[in-house]
Amino acid sequence: MTKERKLSGITVVEGKGLGKAYIVGRAVQQSSVVSISRQDVGDHIMRFNEIRERAKEDYRSYQKNFDGTSSFDASILNIYEHILDDPAFIGQVVETITTKLFDLETSIRLVSNDFIKRFNAAGTSYFKERSGDMVEICEKLITYIHENKGRQKTFLDSIVLVVLRTFTPSDILSYDVHKIKAVVSVSGGKTSHAAILARSYSIPVVSGIHNITERIHPGDELLVDADKATVFIRPTPTVINKYVELEKKETVVRKTLKKKWDRPVYTRDGVHIEVLANISMPDDINDATANGADGVGLVRTEYLLSNKKEFPSEEEQIKFYKSIFKKIGKKECVVRMMDIGGDKIPEFFQMPTEFNPFMGWRAIRILLERKDLFEMQLRAIMIAGQQYNYKIMFPMVTTLQEWIESREVIKEVSKKLKMDVPKCGVLFEVPLAILEMDTFIREIDFASIGTNDLLQYLSAADRNNPKVNHLYNPIEPAFIKIIKTAIDISKDNGTSISICGEMAGNPIYTILLLGIGLKRFSVIPRNIPIIKELISNISYVEAAESASHLFAIDTSSGVNKWIKRVNKQMVGDLLQKIPTFE
Ligand code: PEP
Ligand code: MG
Repeated sequence: MTKERKLSGITVVEGKGLGKAYIVGRAVQQSSVVSISRQDVGDHIMRFNEIRERAKEDYRSYQKNFDGTSSFDASILNIYEHILDDPAFIGQVVETITTKLFDLETSIRLVSNDFIKRFNAAGTSYFKERSGDMVEICEKLITYIHENKGRQKTFLDSIVLVVLRTFTPSDILSYDVHKIKAVVSVSGGKTSHAAILARSYSIPVVSGIHNITERIHPGDELLVDADKATVFIRPTPTVINKYVELEKKETVVRKTLKKKWDRPVYTRDGVHIEVLANISMPDDINDATANGADGVGLVRTEYLLSNKKEFPSEEEQIKFYKSIFKKIGKKECVVRMMDIGGDKIPEFFQMPTEFNPFMGWRAIRILLERKDLFEMQLRAIMIAGQQYNYKIMFPMVTTLQEWIESREVIKEVSKKLKMDVPKCGVLFEVPLAILEMDTFIREIDFASIGTNDLLQYLSAADRNNPKVNHLYNPIEPAFIKIIKTAIDISKDNGTSISICGEMAGNPIYTILLLGIGLKRFSVIPRNIPIIKELISNISYVEAAESASHLFAIDTSSGVNKWIKRVNKQMVGDLLQKIPTFE
């Protein structure tokens, strides 16, 4: 029981947290069925109405806590109210109590499960989301029933919510957010409402942990390292002390570097390197400016608009893009057209069920078919960007033909708006496109490499699947060669190229990437100061000289040794100061 265990999952929200396990989410699991006598029917129905009203009041009070600056769309709380007032839901619970003579809890569970099954069977993402809402309602109502039986919310100061099902907003809203140090859940994606909310409170989340009840018990000490998608159960004092010390060190280093790097960076031998920000959530733009971004190299627009219930209107989009452009001011901002599909299905988009979504209908493939959406987004970006230094990037382009068709749409829209054709580029993340870089490069204004997807397609290893993580390795020699060739082709053609996949934001790879000629990094805002500090300590010429030996190495473990050696030689002291990257 007391032995430390380590579980691996999937990072949903980055960060680290330490606290006691607090298990939530048993509600929908059907346990025993409790029968009542006929004379108790009235009481149970009355109690049902009381707790429904109480739940509605609670949701209304949560809604007041949002002042519009948070990225969480509080209108989801209205949906909960609608469900609580839904005659079909109320009718079925009352009927179950009256005709089957089951108690209130059993009846709520049975009816909720029935709704959940039907929503899931409908197959569309919209109904799947409603099934999550139903879990939420069921959970909430049953919590009230138990509260009266004396079950209390936690008095613990630091808790890690362990969610036995899909993680929902109420899991956070029902507790004091300052007490929640992390969340571990069975499932829950990066774009779920719950993840959006957790992110706005800086609560780390790891999902994809199975058989939780067999592994984690209430009150167990948990150390969640979401940066590494790891959960330590009952960590030893040594591991905890190490974590506390690392946290302290990291906070001090990050603070100092953030202050220092609100300016451009040059390598030790004077080569200017741009470090731009990747923005996924609306609030990230504030982090980008606070961390000294030289601009924005990737705006993931499908996330920014993902908490909307309906496809955002052109006006809404214009307002939204303007707010980003305004904050980044004169600096460059690369807006990526919506990359819908794969694991990113915004609520406003009805996707067909696909057997293999990452290989399916995604990004530019959708936009070329849904020209209405394509043109609307283009118009909105262009109208919003009139006074600003923006560029537009196209995700998942596979063939030159697709690019030629896309360019026709851009020209057409520009003509209608009587505006100049904006600078447009391609996100190289599909093998066919990057292997055809020398043709593409003559047709585009700029290039960026999406290493996250490119690597999963080249290695045939799902980027979200820990089982094949060993194959999803950015330092595989063949992968480095492909990136280097793309950088060389862009340079020879005088076209700018960046990397905006996660690889660029990992300080371990900074020397390697500089060495193969990268001069534009686009990274998560919080890592900008670290990357700049490293760059300022590296000589571009020396990095290139070292990297010239890289191509004689033919295994990833060989490359790993090379990285360790050059990192130690060139920036060893620095990397040691930043504990996460030791
Ligand atoms: C990538 O694939 O590297 C990328 C930047 O896009 P995303 O992570 O949004 O798929
Ligand atoms: Mg991608």
